This record gives sequence, structure tokens and C-alpha cells, in this order.
Amino acid sequence: MKYTSTRDDKRSVSGPEAIISGLAPDGGLYVPESLPKVDWSVLPDSYRQLARYILGLFFPEFKNDNSSPSVAEDNISTPNQVATTEDLEQEGSFPQDSLSRIISGYDKFAVEEIVPIRVFPEYAFLELYHGPTSSFKDMALTLLPGLLRASYQITGRQETAFVMVATSGDTGSAALHGFAGQPGTEILVLYPHAGVSEIQQLQMESARAANAHVYSIAGNFDDAQRAIKEAFVSEWVQRLARERGKDLSSANSINIGRLAPQIVYYFYAYRRLVSAGRIEAGELLDISVPTGNFGDILAGIYAREMGLPLGNIICASNANKVLTDFFVTGIYNSKRDFAKTISPSMDILVSSNLERYLHLLSKGDSELIKNCYQSLATTGVFTWPLGFPSYMKAMCKTDLETAVLIRDAFVKHNYLIDPHTAVAYGAAALADNYCLILSTASPYKFVDSVLSALSEEVGGGVELDLAGRLSALESLTQTSAPASIKDRLAGSEVEPVLLTQADIMPTIEERLRVSVS
Ligand SMILES: *Cc1c(COP(=O)(O)O)cnc(C)c1O
Repeated sequence: MKYTSTRDDKRSVSGPEAIISGLAPDGGLYVPESLPKVDWSVLPDSYRQLARYILGLFFPEFKNDNSSPSVAEDNISTPNQVATTEDLEQEGSFPQDSLSRIISGYDKFAVEEIVPIRVFPEYAFLELYHGPTSSFKDMALTLLPGLLRASYQITGRQETAFVMVATSGDTGSAALHGFAGQPGTEILVLYPHAGVSEIQQLQMESARAANAHVYSIAGNFDDAQRAIKEAFVSEWVQRLARERGKDLSSANSINIGRLAPQIVYYFYAYRRLVSAGRIEAGELLDISVPTGNFGDILAGIYAREMGLPLGNIICASNANKVLTDFFVTGIYNSKRDFAKTISPSMDILVSSNLERYLHLLSKGDSELIKNCYQSLATTGVFTWPLGFPSYMKAMCKTDLETAVLIRDAFVKHNYLIDPHTAVAYGAAALADNYCLILSTASPYKFVDSVLSALSEEVGGGVELDLAGRLSALESLTQTSAPASIKDRLAGSEVEPVLLTQADIMPTIEERLRVSVS
């Protein structure tokens, strides 16, 4: 499998190279040259085996001739088995058996099932938040350090991976959890000052380590993301990194290594719903996805392209409704006020992964994509000339509606959801078929918004500390907070380091200059 840039179809690199570099040098994103077709009905049931299979399609393992095919017991053909002799594009392959090691990242999950499904008559919630930092970002970020390590091993490169992350909260905590203390890596995280929840800030600040640098910036998520992208394409920064033996990389969903693990759970959920008798084999399943950077939903679109019988793809947004407007009008307009909402992980005006979707819709017209994104960079706006398929639906929800939806799910189903999931729960109204709602965070990660949605008294009067608020939600709903969140409360508090916009680039340069190992 080769990868090309969305902005230049003449450049192609191997999977490991795409994972190491994150962003293509022209500022585009790496996309697979073609998406593999898969027969969903013959895949393994176990989440780990399924993950191994799907990841193997995107990042094939190096095969020795005398080795027995490792998934053969499952009676499925692995992508490696169809390999022909000329498939000694082996140079771009992962070391043998590395995928099983990489997938052991899921050992950190709190539930054996990894992604439980809560099934109701017209829809089901896919709970993607049982990883170490309680958001769906763990689905990919528990695997990314392993993917990176294997990529270095196979390319024979000795550099330290210098991973830069812009976060609205969840990516930062999940990436820090994955990378802190990992040999051969260094991680730098920028998060918006006062733009993340108390738990997110605690999770990030307590993960500081010799190789893990955490900064809050005076600005919002888009400012953080722009700074990181600028650092990536800056020749001066690139030269400094080279001199210091560091490789610039990214743990944001611009990294193709983030996307592949997210495709897995769509196949898993579909098969589970079939075996539970909720849908017939082959019947269309709609999905409703709470969307920010368009990574999670893009993985669903990829699964659809790969042959999974998905019907409508519903893009659910909060008050930052750039995407809702875009799918209605064809005009992407990022020049608008940035709203701080109770679903902060979706507070984004420039959705990076949309570029990959548009590249897919244009059948790989990299000239068109380059022009659109040049226009976005210079004017903040671009117009999409090709229209959208009818399966693509979009809806947005205000904070007020979101709070009502949290209460509605609890009253109707005695089921507790977080504000991001609530937005998708509301947008599921657009579904024509049975609908899978992607549940992206533990309600305890956003305890304040959930508490005040459920009970006005708690939101108004009583001043409780964080531990008190977690207990209040526990007793109000007869559920329990994840152990990983409770454990953080005991963690030592670290004062955030606040950077002005002007400080960001010099700080990145300073961190590149200093060696940590
Ligand atoms: C990141 C995130 C989202 C948005 O996912 P994208 O892949 O950025 O679209 C939604 N909900 C939660 C809780 C998140 O952390």
C-alpha cells in the first residue's frame, strides 16, 4: 500500500514513511492510493483480530516465505497472503508480527470487550471511551506509539520522533498518555488556555515527563493547530530538527496512523448488530458521528468505501457549524466567530480531515484540492464545485439543545451520555435506517456540563471540588466514574505554562534544540 499527498498525486511514500512524517511536505495529507475492498461477512469477531486484519490492509507486515500465515487459523485471507512476488514492495512493510504487538496497546482498556455497544430499538451507542483517558482518541493513540516504533524499525532511521500535537483536550491527554516515557520519542502538546475541561487539564499537566512538554496557549484550538502546521512546513524548524537528530511527526488525526485504527470499530459494530439481530446481514446501517476535525467520520466513510453496508453518514456539529453550512451550501467559510461550547472537542473551524474526504470525492484531483486549500489559507473561504453524495447529511445542535438531549437520553433510557455524544444523538433524527451513534467520551470527563444538564440545583448553587462533583454525578445517576479519572485526582498538580502566540515558535525551537535523552 502506497500513500500520496492530497495536494500532489506524483509523490508517493510507504505507510511507515507516511506515519513518521504525519503531514506531507506540501502541506497536504497522506491518503491511500486506493482503498482496499473487504467482505465484511467473513471477518473475525474478536476486536483484536479484526484490528489486526484491517491494520494489515493499510500497513502490511513483512512476510518470510517459511513462516506460517499467522491469521490462517481464522480462515480468512490476510492481506499478506494475496501478495505476489512483485509484492516485494516489502521494503515498505512492517516487521513480521509487529501488528500483534502494536494492538496490545488495547491491554490498557478498562473493559475486555474494548468497545461495548448499548442497543436500543432504533439506535445503538458505540462506546469508544473505555481507554486510559476516557475519550475515543484512545482508540488510535494507544496504538500510535507502537505504529511509530515499527515504522522507525523498518525504515532503519535512528532519529528521535518529535511528535507535535495541537489539542482541544482529548487528543492531548490521550497522546501524552501514549508517548510519555516512551524511548526514542518526544512529545510537545499545545492546548487552548481555558479551552479544556478541568479533568482534561489535569490529565495533561500530570503527564509531563522528561520527554513530554505541555503548554497552554493564549488562543483557541485553531490557533494551536495553525502554529503546529506552520512549524511543520517551516524550513528553519525542519533544518533545526535535522541537526538535532529529531524527526517532526504528528499525533493529530492528520496522521494516517490515527485513521486506520478508527476504521476497525465500524466493521466491528456492524457485525455485532447483525449477530444481535438488530439489523439483517447486508441491511444499510446509518451512522451519526459527533464531528470536529472530521477524523472519526472519515474513518466511517472509508469503511463504507471498503464495502461495509453503511447508509447515511450524519455529520453532527455543535454551534461551530462550519461543516453543517458547508454540506448545505458547498461554501466552506471559516471566517466566523469561534464559539466555546460544552462539547469543546468539536470547537473547531478548520476541519483538517475534510481535505481527505474532498480528495476522495474528487477521485484524486490533487490540483483542485490544492486550489481549495490555498484559497482557505489566504481568504478563509473556499467553494466546493462538485456537490456531495446524497448519503452525506449534516445537523448542528446548540448547547441548550445538547443539555436537553443529555437529559432526554437519561430520562428515556436511563442512559448517561456526554455532551459530544448528545450532539450525535440529536442528529440521529436524520436517520432513515437503524442508526449507530458514536459515543466519544465518558460523561465523567465532562462532569460539569452533564451535572448541570441533569440537575439545575447542582449547576447553580453548591460549590463542590472536582472529586465532589464526580461523586454527585455518581449518586445522581447510580453509575460510577472511570477509575482512570478518579486516579488522576490524587495526582500532583502542576501549574500550566502559558504561552502567548509570539512565544509559540521560539518555544518549539528551544525544545528541538535541547536533547532529552
Ligand atoms: C475529538 C473528539 C470528537 C471529534 O472527533 P473528530 O475525529 O475530530 O471529528 C468528538 N468527541 C470527542 C469526545 C472527541 O474527543
